[in-house]
Amino acid sequence: MARKSRKVQILPASEAVAVSTAARYNAAVYVRLSVEDNNLDDGYSIEAQRDMLLGFIEVQEDMALADVYCDNGATGSNFDRDGFNRIMDDIKGGKVNAVVVKDLSRFGRNYIETSNYIEKIFPFMGVRFVSVNDGYDSERDSAADIMVTLRNIVNHAYVTDISRKIKTMFTIKQNNGDFIGWSAPYGYRKSEKNNNRLVIDPETAPIARQIFEWKAEGIGMMAIARRLNEMGIPSPRQRNIAMGRYKNTPPKDGQFWTDATVSWIIKSPAYAGHMTQRKFTRNSVNGRQIQLPIDEWVVVRNTHEAIISDELWETVQAVTKKHANNFGVNRRKRNANKGENILKGILYCPCCKKAMQHKVDPKYNYRHYFCQMRRANPNCTTEPIKEAELLEAVFAAVEKKITAAVDTQKLLVKVSGSKAHLDRLESIRQSIRNANMAIKRNAALRGRLFDTFGDGLITEAEFRQMKDDYTAEAERLQSGLAELNREHARLTSVFTKDNERIASFAKFKNQKALTGDMVSELIEKIIVHGAERIEIVWRYEDEYNAVCEMAKAGGV
Ligand SMILES: [Zn+2]
Repeated sequence: MARKSRKVQILPASEAVAVSTAARYNAAVYVRLSVEDNNLDDGYSIEAQRDMLLGFIEVQEDMALADVYCDNGATGSNFDRDGFNRIMDDIKGGKVNAVVVKDLSRFGRNYIETSNYIEKIFPFMGVRFVSVNDGYDSERDSAADIMVTLRNIVNHAYVTDISRKIKTMFTIKQNNGDFIGWSAPYGYRKSEKNNNRLVIDPETAPIARQIFEWKAEGIGMMAIARRLNEMGIPSPRQRNIAMGRYKNTPPKDGQFWTDATVSWIIKSPAYAGHMTQRKFTRNSVNGRQIQLPIDEWVVVRNTHEAIISDELWETVQAVTKKHANNFGVNRRKRNANKGENILKGILYCPCCKKAMQHKVDPKYNYRHYFCQMRRANPNCTTEPIKEAELLEAVFAAVEKKITAAVDTQKLLVKVSGSKAHLDRLESIRQSIRNANMAIKRNAALRGRLFDTFGDGLITEAEFRQMKDDYTAEAERLQSGLAELNREHARLTSVFTKDNERIASFAKFKNQKALTGDMVSELIEKIIVHGAERIEIVWRYEDEYNAVCEMAKAGGV
């Protein structure tokens, strides 16, 4: 009986063996939340990863769940992680023979270590490895397949992923009404306790309030700016400089209150206690900052103490809108019949660092330029200047420059045909050929290194060291070659009659008067120090001067 009962007892055991043969793999589900995932949901949370992987295992005919292993907050750049170490113990103990992850970035971002596990350790231990979202299964795919994916993760996904996640985090903070800007709006400062909170700045808040009150009375932006300047109140930028908010050299402009500064303050709901974020976005093509339309701004209400009431804010918006409409009509009237203005946008007032405006008095056909900031800035001394006098002075300066350019052009042609110049070019070309040969040699040696390692002639440590050495050498050779190519391009583009900087002047040599083309092509800006003295800043001035110097020195 005893024998029989023992036999009976064996049956379930052999059944169990049969079951585990059907499920040939006891899978470890590995989930990981990295530091960068914090505060984020949608598929990154531990729960979401686990649910997804358990679902995956359930539909696999040959897999059974061994256990769920979890690492919370580990960075994924090394394998000293509790959950991961437990998997390795269970693999050694025979409890686990498959590892399933959501994607490779869960498994690890250290390229060498991760590839070591996938290519060597797991195959050696007979462990099946599945990365569900990457569609990789070591049962079916070769390790080489996953290495491509892995390399992509290291090269691209890591960087773009992180930047996308940080961007998402910013949006979340914005929607919470957290302040994430560089400096607080004028009238506020960042709380010392919490950098994301705004508190009233007792020194500037009364001024911000005054600006709204003036505007509500119907005073214009420019007049408000002038009042503030006359009262000697530091502009928002000056205030930021005084508070030491610039880490680098602060910008030179913005010394005065302008209509633009006032109008920026007046538009902001921050003063009524509501946070506005995301006023700007970046163009995804060129990376430049662009302002979003007002209705796309993120406004979170009642996030901080208000400086003015909602009613005052609304009143001021209504007044501003009315003014803007009138202004548009007046401006269109003024601009009619104004004639050509070839110095548009390039005349600057040195006191205000702002562009001067063109004005025509139609009765006397009196055309002149004036500094419109003069109305806002009591320190501006720039008198209006007559257009005719200005055009004459500018043309005289341009003519002088053209004559000099024609002389320089002749000199360049002479140098470009000289033996010294041709010898120098040839010597650079020879150096370029030598550098290219050295680069090819280095690549060949590097290629052979892989074979040497594959043949087992050197150890992995030696292989890595030698590979690093060859890579460093390759980088050095490439940068040397780039330098030579640059020098060659520089010499050939400088010493030719087609030299761009010189030709841009010389081509105007037969012009009898200043034209719009000449101005836009040659002149960067004109600073008007007074009716008697103007200062012309030429485009590419440094390059132009360098070419003249080199031509005179014979190119040596
Ligand atoms: Zn001025």
